[in-house]
This record gives sequence, structure tokens and C-alpha cells, in this order.
Amino acid sequence: MNFKKLVYKLGQAWRNPSLAGHLRSLKASQEWSRKDLLKLQEEKLRSLLSFAFKHSPYYRELLQNAGYDNLHEFKVKDLQYIPITFKHHLIDQNSKVQVERSLFKKTFLCETSGSSGQILTFYRDENWDSFNRAVQLRSYSWHDVQPWEPNLYFWGYNKSALKKRKIRFLDTLVNRKRIFDYDELVREKIYGKLDKFSFIEGYSSMLYEFALLLEKQGETYTHLKMVKGTSEMIYPHYQEVANKVFGKKIISEYGAAESGLIAFECPHGNMHINMEGVILESDPNEGILVTNLSSYSFPVIRYSLGDFVKLKSEDFECPCGMKHPIVEEISGRIGHNLLSEKKRYPSFILYYVFKNLFFNEGLKIDYQAHQYKIGEMEIWFKKPLEPKVEELITNEFAKYCPDIKLRLVINDNFRSVRGKLKDFINHLNEEQHEQEVS
Ligand SMILES: [Zn+2]
Repeated sequence: MNFKKLVYKLGQAWRNPSLAGHLRSLKASQEWSRKDLLKLQEEKLRSLLSFAFKHSPYYRELLQNAGYDNLHEFKVKDLQYIPITFKHHLIDQNSKVQVERSLFKKTFLCETSGSSGQILTFYRDENWDSFNRAVQLRSYSWHDVQPWEPNLYFWGYNKSALKKRKIRFLDTLVNRKRIFDYDELVREKIYGKLDKFSFIEGYSSMLYEFALLLEKQGETYTHLKMVKGTSEMIYPHYQEVANKVFGKKIISEYGAAESGLIAFECPHGNMHINMEGVILESDPNEGILVTNLSSYSFPVIRYSLGDFVKLKSEDFECPCGMKHPIVEEISGRIGHNLLSEKKRYPSFILYYVFKNLFFNEGLKIDYQAHQYKIGEMEIWFKKPLEPKVEELITNEFAKYCPDIKLRLVINDNFRSVRGKLKDFINHLNEEQHEQEVS
């Protein structure tokens, strides 16, 4: 056993004693039929609901009001009768959702922030934490990645010096080199030193910037086993440059701290839903609802993440052999609307506009949209555009939002929200608009 592997294994045994067991059962169940997986989901759901009923005052009330007091016969299809939980519920009624920590051997404090800037904190029990890590490790194994292999992590998140030092220490345990921002990337001249890493992960926009930098240097690194993007949309032109310098596309991991890992891309390019860990429902207005089957210490049941997700047809069979359903596309956030005087349009329209321009016209455009005024939209571009390109953008956008006036601006100083690069930033007060429109 090499030294890094030993350090990793010891760290894991100390922090996540139940991880190894979870990984074994997950590796077994990835071979299961859909029918068996559904049966497992139902069993896990009953057990989670019974526990939540008993120990989480928030869910007890919710279940009682929905007419449930016996959950032993509960079916997955009965979930629709339980009201949806939103992030503001988890924040405002935090202590009522949280299960008494003394019921668990060990809990970890988690902190996560939404795009609205509100912070959600909760305690995650060891079993949940370990299960989630095990799901991730199983997904890594599809790409032949061992977790202790040297890896590079683009974080894109500025933290205080003290936190940075603490994080750096923990990173050494998992053989990880973390890059906090783009300037650091250039300063440390990470390019040219990639041979020693096995995989890279980080915000998709940072991976893209990095790939562009490598392209400029004329460097290619096809030895990497996995290039994984998180948290942000991955545009087709990101993939093009990734294919060029890494010889492979950026694969997607989809999930959140409270929901756990929802889906992970297999080597055949399909994002399989982690059926052993989550139940996904789709609501026409609220997008996907997640029930996190391991979330005992802080139950997350029928939770609206605020994403629209498109699933692949049920009869599609992935060549990898797994029977877990497939997420075809995560098309964007809900509640972030582009507003005209009379209508509101989902912001993922922007993604479609630029995706169409890439596939139909071969245009690779980095943009960021801002709305300061109802009926008007400002789109920022890093480089000046040719008049023909301006016209194409304006026409494509008008196909979706004919009553929003577009202003194209050269401004390469794209703003990020809590470290994440957003494709759309709304500067309007939504509530105010709610009254104006209705
Ligand atoms: Zn697959």
C-alpha cells in the first residue's frame, strides 16, 4: 500500500467508519434491475419517513396534516400527498426540522448558501455523510479513479487566510491540490505541472478558463482519468476546448449539500440518478423535488431544489448496463425570471439561445446577462462582437423573448455570486414585480 493510500484509508476509517460498508453495498446494487432498485427505494423511504415522524417536529406536523400516522404501508407514489418543502422552510424552521443530535454517534455541521444569499446550516449524521461519500466514490470508480490519487481542485471561492490554511491541511489528507481562484492558477503556473495529477475537478467555468489557458500554451494532457465539473452549466464550447486539451469531455456531477449526490455521469456520457440515495419527482411548477433517503439527522423530503431537470426516456438503455434512470439536461434555475412588462420567462432561455448559436452557427460566446430594468436586458461579452454576430444574438433572443429589449455590452469583468459564475444576475426586486404583474 502506498503512503498516500494509507493516509487516505486511515483518515476515512477515523472520520467515516461506515463508508466502506456503504461502498460495498452500492457496488453490488449498481448491477441490480430497476424493479429491485425501486423496491429498495420504497423500503428506505418508509424507514426515513417513520423516523422523521418520530423525531422531527416539522415533518411530524406535515405528515399528520397530510393524514398519515402509519407509514409502514407507505408507497413512493403516495409522496405526492406530502407538501413540498422549500429552502426557506429549512432555514426558518431549522430547529424543528433538525433531529436531536444525541440520537447519533457523530454529526458534522454543514453550511450551504443559496443564490438568494441565505445560509442554511444543519447537522449531517455520520451514516448520511459516509453514504454520500460512498456514492461519490462509486461514481469515481466508473472512471477508474481511486480517491487517494493526486488531484487538482478548482474552487473559485475566496476565503479567509485562516480557513484556507485549515482547508489546505485537510486537502493533504486526500492528496488534493486546491486552487482558490484564477489568479492563483496563473501565479502558480499549474499548467505545465499536470502530469502528476490523475483527475481534476471544479466549477465548470474555471475548468473552461483553464482549458483555454492550456490551449494557448499549446499543451495537452490526455492522461487525466476524469475532468469533473460541478455547480455550473457546462456549455458546448466548454466541451470543445476540453476535448482538445484533455482528450475528453468535462463530466457532470449533480447534487447539493442538503440533497446529497443526485446524479453522476458514466463513461458513456449519461448522468445516472443515484437511486439508492434519492427519490426524484418532477413538479411542473417547482421543477424537481428530492427526497434524500439518508438524511436522518436533518430530513430532506420532497424538497424543491429549484432546478428544472429533463429526464431521458424510460426505455433508453445505457451501454454501461446500469438501470438507473438518466438525467438528460439540467436546464436551469427556477425563480430567476427574465421580465418583460407583461410576461416572465425562465432564465434558462439564455442557455438555449447560446447553445443554439453554437450548434447552428459555430459561435463560442462567453456571456453574462443582467437585468436592471423590466423589459430590458443587458448581456455582457468579454470581447467585441462583429455586427453580424450581434444580429444573430439579437434575433435568436427575440425568438424566445420578443418583448424584451436587448443591449449588448463589452465588459469582461463578469460578476460571481458566492464564488459561482452565474449566467444571469437579476438586479430587480422580484416581489415588487410580482405585484406589478398580477
Ligand atoms: Zn451509463
